[in-house]
Amino acid sequence: MIFDAHTHIGRCDPFHYSNLEDKSPTFTAANLIEEMDRNNVSRAVVMPNYSLPHRLERANIELSSSIKPYRDRMVAFAWLDPRIEGCGDQLEKLVRTHKFMGLKLHPVLGGYYATNKTVHTLVERAVKLKIPVMIHTGWGALGRPSHIGELAEYFPDAKFIIAHMIDPECLDVARRSENIYLETSYAQHPRMITRAAAKIGATRILYGSDHPLGGGMSFEISKITLADIGDEEKTLILGENISRLIK
Ligand SMILES: [Zn+2]
Repeated sequence: MIFDAHTHIGRCDPFHYSNLEDKSPTFTAANLIEEMDRNNVSRAVVMPNYSLPHRLERANIELSSSIKPYRDRMVAFAWLDPRIEGCGDQLEKLVRTHKFMGLKLHPVLGGYYATNKTVHTLVERAVKLKIPVMIHTGWGALGRPSHIGELAEYFPDAKFIIAHMIDPECLDVARRSENIYLETSYAQHPRMITRAAAKIGATRILYGSDHPLGGGMSFEISKITLADIGDEEKTLILGENISRLIK
């Protein structure tokens, strides 16, 4: 069973260095299902595309209604901005009323440090709600995996997912903290997966594609299947680990 730990659907607010807004208005839950079916992907974690901070709540609720026909195959993570007043209450409502099962933070697009105190309030709420926190890494100083390492030490009861295996620093950071998981999109080579499994074990590595960004599901899956690891480890990475994490 393949369970993709990182995908997006929905409209994208324009931002300066991506052309995603050109294709995102037509990228729907049905489009995602087509890509999943083409690649034998049974389930996916889905989050909204980029929205300006004050529009994130609306984007999350729109996502929730658009995945309703696919509830057996899609699990929603709420993308929120820690600087928006009441974001903790937004998270609680999304989890309790709209069945969201994780929190997603993007310090790089949001323009804040993951170590900022405002982030603590949201993480505390995530711990209370028993949901994992996925945080974007890579693409500049705001995306350092070591910031998630600091959070993970400060919040031993929280579970963090480092989105994207693009910064090699993520391996050392995950080795130091048992409550950090690594999501594989943008890993440069199957060797990176092999190295990660050797360093932290296969149980804390999650296959993710970041579709419709990234290189497509078949490319992202191939990095796992081509890695020099055992079949059992591949099964864990391709789906079992994320299934267990969101329970
Ligand atoms: Zn993403």
